[in-house]
Amino acid sequence: MNKILVTRSSMPELDEYVEEIKDIWDTHWLTNMGIKHRKLESKLKEYLGVENVSLMTNGHLSLELGLQAMHLKGEVITTPFTFASTTHAIVRNGLIPVFCDINPDDFTIDVTKIESLITDKTCAILPVHVYGNICNVEEIERIAKKYDLKVIYDAAHSFGEKYKGIGIGSFGDASMFSFHATKVFNTIEGGCMCFHELSYEKELYKLKNFGIKNETVVDGVGSNAKMNEFQAAMGLCNLKHVNEEIQKRKSVVERYRTNFKGIEGIKLSPIQENVESNYAYFPIVVDEKVFGVTRNEIYAELKKHNIFARKYFYPLTNTFDCFNGEYDVNETPVALHISKRVLTLPLFADLSLREVDRICEIILKVREYNG
Ligand SMILES: *Cc1c(COP(=O)(O)O)cnc(C)c1O
Repeated sequence: MNKILVTRSSMPELDEYVEEIKDIWDTHWLTNMGIKHRKLESKLKEYLGVENVSLMTNGHLSLELGLQAMHLKGEVITTPFTFASTTHAIVRNGLIPVFCDINPDDFTIDVTKIESLITDKTCAILPVHVYGNICNVEEIERIAKKYDLKVIYDAAHSFGEKYKGIGIGSFGDASMFSFHATKVFNTIEGGCMCFHELSYEKELYKLKNFGIKNETVVDGVGSNAKMNEFQAAMGLCNLKHVNEEIQKRKSVVERYRTNFKGIEGIKLSPIQENVESNYAYFPIVVDEKVFGVTRNEIYAELKKHNIFARKYFYPLTNTFDCFNGEYDVNETPVALHISKRVLTLPLFADLSLREVDRICEIILKVREYNG
């Protein structure tokens, strides 16, 4: 039986990619903001509906350098229900993460709990549009204005999404998108920062290129996070098909929703109002008391059938070994509760509806063996 992984990378036809990279053999320009880099940057600006884009070699470095470019000091309010990258980007900048709890329904930051976490050391809020569920951007903006805080979104999951018709990357001071192989849009590895303030552009440019100002002046201690031409070429190809890919994901998600309709104990993400979704992930939250079996039992049963769901996001980042118990997980009880019960099911453009049906059948049948 074929293995079904939680995701499968989108790729253009081989011929299409070969065509796109051909001229690299004429120019011998492999990296350092080449023609393809610049072309992708401008195409993404348009597609994402944002003012400015700085491409990077991956999403994590976009976030890390994005924070660095803001010259922040002190505490950053964020959530632990996310990928390691979000928290690590804060800590690796010498900043202190302050963990806010999440909403039980859409898993984004609970905006009613942000203000009580603000101290005189708070400098920024770093919320996550987790699974492509959009945060309460309006309330976050109100709080940020009131307390004069920067807002930088981890938008790794929300490529191409719109809220009230506005590109999701244009909310806050800056937003990071990831173009990792497993994301809705990929450049193999890759990512970008979107932002409003123009001074930020030069800053990011320098940070991703060793702090080099010009041939003789190096006035910043920068990193190296440049996207190369082969990555950019992959992006140019994939961008042509991304709308089609999102449409296919949509039918997979709709099939899952139909199959799980009315099933007690399996909670689905809400369909958010005013949001143009990208159908990035399909998380279910298993209430074992109602459904009869646990998340872990479902996970194990799927695995027996060569189907690999993922326990995203378990464990919470505030429980990671590397933090040596520094953070109290009981301060984010909703996130803790969800992380123990959530399971992200396979979802990619070419997942057939027949396979979706099979995955759902297996899940619904587990109860018979375990019940
Ligand atoms: C993928 C991801 C990142 C990191 O992006 P990379 O491109 O893999 O470096 C950051 N945050 C979240 C929530 C992600 O899912």
